[in-house]
Amino acid sequence: MSPFSVKTFVIFKIDLQILIKEAYNNEHLEKEKLMLELKEVSMRYPAGNVALDNLSIEIDKGEFVFLIGASGAGKSTFIKLLTKELSPTSGQLWFEDKNITKYHKRRIPHYRRNLGIVFQDYRLLEKETVAENIAFAMRIVGKKNREIKRELPLILNLVGLNGKEKKFPDQLSGGEQQRVSIARAIANNPKLLICDEPTGNLDPATSWELMDLLSKLHNHGTTIIMATHSKDIVNTMQKRVIELEDGKLIRDEKQGGYA
Ligand code: ADP
Repeated sequence: MSPFSVKTFVIFKIDLQILIKEAYNNEHLEKEKLMLELKEVSMRYPAGNVALDNLSIEIDKGEFVFLIGASGAGKSTFIKLLTKELSPTSGQLWFEDKNITKYHKRRIPHYRRNLGIVFQDYRLLEKETVAENIAFAMRIVGKKNREIKRELPLILNLVGLNGKEKKFPDQLSGGEQQRVSIARAIANNPKLLICDEPTGNLDPATSWELMDLLSKLHNHGTTIIMATHSKDIVNTMQKRVIELEDGKLIRDEKQGGYA
């Protein structure tokens, strides 16, 4: 081999090494960005209804995603897969770098610490105060009273409920109750906030106040998946839209409207 060709070979080899390293890093970074991945997920209820049909969806950390579709399209089933109330009949579900498809029920409570969940009907403890409702969620993950006392005012401030900590749910408006439920959902810093029709029981003005709060949480870095029927909200927010119809993915748009 002439000295020239040895040099060429060495340069080629170095270039190749750099390329391989870059490719590896890119793949690694892509994976690190990923929060949730559905790989060809289908869900058939024992009665035979196919609720989700071969869904492949990736959701990155920091995204805000609207999940839309007519009644019966599969939104609740989708959410129940994420919360591990149900497991898919086929396909795989990944959360970050973990395959959670067939998690044993013993592992599910630990997995759920990654999630905050907000329901349309708030689901607050009616006989407990605002402060107790939020503290309850914090105690479940083992936070000490000292920590709770320190963190509670910060959370109340974030959701705009200062001064309401001693109230009971029935002394609050619908919008305020939903704020308590959001406060409870975010109290343990979840990686993913799942909101199932959070504005379904609220008037338009209150719904917008709530969306401002969710936007604020999103801007703080929380990943949000929100199922909704509100055309107005989806069209105005211009976030990613995942649309289901009869369990199939019929649209996945980066900045979509309700259409
Ligand atoms: P959405 O939340 O969009 O209204 P669902 O996920 O509730 O849709 O329902 C999707 C499909 O699965 C529908 O056909 C519904 O009838 C069916 N389904 C939902 N829950 C059950 C269940 N527990 N048993 C049998 N079929 C169900």
